[in-house]
Amino acid sequence: MEFVDRLLTCADCGGEFIFTAGEQLFFFDKQFKNDPKRCKPCKSKRAGVGLKAGAGPAAAGLSRTETRTECSACGVETTVPFKPTQGRPVLCRQCFQAKRAPTTGALVTAATTAEMVAGGTEHVGVSAELLTAAQAPHA
Ligand SMILES: [Zn+2]
Ligand SMILES: [Zn+2]
Repeated sequence: MEFVDRLLTCADCGGEFIFTAGEQLFFFDKQFKNDPKRCKPCKSKRAGVGLKAGAGPAAAGLSRTETRTECSACGVETTVPFKPTQGRPVLCRQCFQAKRAPTTGALVTAATTAEMVAGGTEHVGVSAELLTAAQAPHA
């Protein structure tokens, strides 16, 4: 069986993409009955979204769960890389650091630290680091 490159139209973006002979051979091999419906970018976009339906656009590139919440201290909207516990204060990054700054570090127990880790997506690296230390009592 001979295969030649074919031009297909993407069902999502309407753009044309090439269904290569190699891909057709693969489809034939796998006994797929239907032609691909979407171009590669749209296909990977869908795959990414499918994992986390309903999550914000920022979550597309993140594997971590981001929860939208409000800072208990200043009320600013923030996202946290964990599910806040009911009744526990959740602080934005600014308030979190303000709280940590004083030498009365004893006030901040390991348990409350878990709830205080916060910040925008640009702080994910920091949050992840703090979260790792706080995950044990949480689980
Ligand atoms: Zn497309
Ligand atoms: Zn705050």
